[in-house]
Amino acid sequence: MQLLEVLIEYAQSSLNRPFSYVYQGDKIIRKGTRVLITFNNRDIVGYVLNVIDTNKTIAQLNEEMGFEIQEIKKLIDESPLLNEELFSLLDEVSSYYLAPKISFLQAMLPPSLSPRKSALKAPGIAFDYYYEVANDDESNLTNKQIELIRLIKNEGRILKRNVSKAKYVMNLLDKGHIVEVKEEKRRLKIPNYKYEAPPALSDDQKSVIDEFNGSKDLVYLLEGVTGSGKTEIYLALSEQYLKQGKSVLMLVPEISLTPMMVEYFLHRFSTHIAILHSELTPAERYDEYRKIARGECQIVVGVRSAIFAPLPNIGLIVLDEEHTETYKQDTLPFYHARDIAIMRAKYHGAKVLLGSATPSLESRARGSKKVYHMLYLNKRINNQKLPTTKIVNMRDYKNIDRDSYIFSHALREAMHQTLAKNEQAILLINRRGFSTNVTCRSCGYVFTCPTCKIAMTYHKTDNMLKCHHCDYVEPLTGSCPTCGSSYLIKTGFGTEKIEEEIERLFPSAKTLRLDSDSAKNKNKIPLVIEAFRNKEANVLIGTQMIAKGHDFPDVTLVGIVLADIGLSMPSFRSSERAFQLITQAIGRSGRKDKPGYAIIQTYQPSHYAITFAARQDYEQFYRKEMEMRKLQFYPPYAFLVGITIKGKNEKKVIESTYQIVDYLNEHLQENGLVLGPATPYVPYERGLFLRSIQIKYTNRELMQSVLQNMQQLYGYSSHFDLLINIDPYNF
Ligand SMILES: [Zn+2]
Ligand SMILES: [Zn+2]
Repeated sequence: MQLLEVLIEYAQSSLNRPFSYVYQGDKIIRKGTRVLITFNNRDIVGYVLNVIDTNKTIAQLNEEMGFEIQEIKKLIDESPLLNEELFSLLDEVSSYYLAPKISFLQAMLPPSLSPRKSALKAPGIAFDYYYEVANDDESNLTNKQIELIRLIKNEGRILKRNVSKAKYVMNLLDKGHIVEVKEEKRRLKIPNYKYEAPPALSDDQKSVIDEFNGSKDLVYLLEGVTGSGKTEIYLALSEQYLKQGKSVLMLVPEISLTPMMVEYFLHRFSTHIAILHSELTPAERYDEYRKIARGECQIVVGVRSAIFAPLPNIGLIVLDEEHTETYKQDTLPFYHARDIAIMRAKYHGAKVLLGSATPSLESRARGSKKVYHMLYLNKRINNQKLPTTKIVNMRDYKNIDRDSYIFSHALREAMHQTLAKNEQAILLINRRGFSTNVTCRSCGYVFTCPTCKIAMTYHKTDNMLKCHHCDYVEPLTGSCPTCGSSYLIKTGFGTEKIEEEIERLFPSAKTLRLDSDSAKNKNKIPLVIEAFRNKEANVLIGTQMIAKGHDFPDVTLVGIVLADIGLSMPSFRSSERAFQLITQAIGRSGRKDKPGYAIIQTYQPSHYAITFAARQDYEQFYRKEMEMRKLQFYPPYAFLVGITIKGKNEKKVIESTYQIVDYLNEHLQENGLVLGPATPYVPYERGLFLRSIQIKYTNRELMQSVLQNMQQLYGYSSHFDLLINIDPYNF
């Protein structure tokens, strides 16, 4: 008999532990497979963590355990879901992040193979059916049958569904002249691009590649201004690893924003590529995953979760735009793709290459300390000039266009000139919707989300109020729910309002808008990008989505409508984010032969994030921001951990949070700065009250053990859930 330790999918922290089951059948159950079990009278899917052979009887086991041990209902997988490397990675990541193994399994595996109930109904392997000739003796066949036999012989084989089911075909099958062959089908249609030979590398690119190849370091940080040709370095290195029989994992921040990267790789390596991202259907992901696991693809291009691709024999892992926050998963399991990349590279003896024009402060600081090997590309390709930039002080009334209040004279004039020259403009405002607040003038009521208690944004397109945190929506009725007054005022502005302003001020301009509202329809992003590139519009208005990666040859003006939005966010990263966003956005201007121009409208014209971004001076920004972080004891000078406590009973949540703070203070003493209990920005979520604790510290090992003990003590309560976020981004 086999005794199994089984992890289950669960909704409460208290169930985050293995449960014992037995199997008395004659199959051999291996660890890492899934089983169907009964838990609290429900059928659920479990993951076998360990198998112990035992000679004991059920009665003996019951006695030993003190409860009635149950038999599993069914074995789902014959062989383990993860290979050796991923199996040990699972241990490593779940202990580093103090996160349940089951949550990492769900992140690592495609939906069809995931240890969750829905996986049982998820798509399995798909097949194509073909006819092939088995016996080409044409005697005794009708003319029609001979015609078909010859057709199949010429083609090699033909798809069954393309052949009629007429009697003469069935007759050929019966007599064994043709046979049906089935073959596994790849449901993701990878476009067929023509091979494009690599362009000649610049001297700068060559020396970066030589330095990379000449070193034995593990992690490299390639810092290169926008338009300096980082992608070509990724491609050239990939080719080199492919020739050595090694494989390459290429991560991009978000597939929908960077179709260009996929295209570059397809042009160079079409036959070797698998693609993994969240917009694939479960069926497509399943096929890609299995194809990678079988070793049929040497390159995987994908987003964050592709870092877990079962790619064997990895030589190189690239993270493009490494500073992008999408590489950090901010829900369970909290992880950063960069950390996982380093763990996997160590296992494979591979190298990690991080690329960015504006590296994250953490990575750049590791570069300074030679933990990462710095590589630089300082010049734009063909020595194009960086755009000329003007900062407009919006506090000074003289600068503001009284006709609009949103535009400055400078931006309106620049728009006018750009349109007159038939060139294109990008306007960035990092806020979607029309107005950011709707308030009752009579009683002061602010329309807030009933779920998260934060102010809702008004969207004019569908006349709805929307919560940008939880997706709650309601129609705007026009009267105050508290006092009934219809005197409502809308303040603040977002992308929709800018679009309306452009239409009012420049009636002849054609506009396109790109934000996560317009991107709800998943095919829309590439269509909007393509339409703008084909000059079907002169103005593109959008959120940070439009700032990254795209190459529009006719854009000569970039306007940052309100640079302050990011700066006012309550986060120690707000300056870094604002700097990155503005730098990236300005980098879209003047990328071909025409000179570029950029205007930054702001209420804080002398803020260093804005002045250095205007000059595209990353190194100066880095120095200044490091001083600030040192003063405030924030990363990279300290590590952070965020703890969230959530539960139905607010009083219990608050009490428990105080207990945990006391526990942490007692065990960390001067080795950590415990901040909290705090009420998070979003204090209430789906019927649960939230409280948070933040800890700043420098000794990772000590912190790890204190957190482990804290988790043992408080992590399995039925009154609240305890979430630990190591190196949080939004906390
Ligand atoms: Zn009112
Ligand atoms: Zn909400």
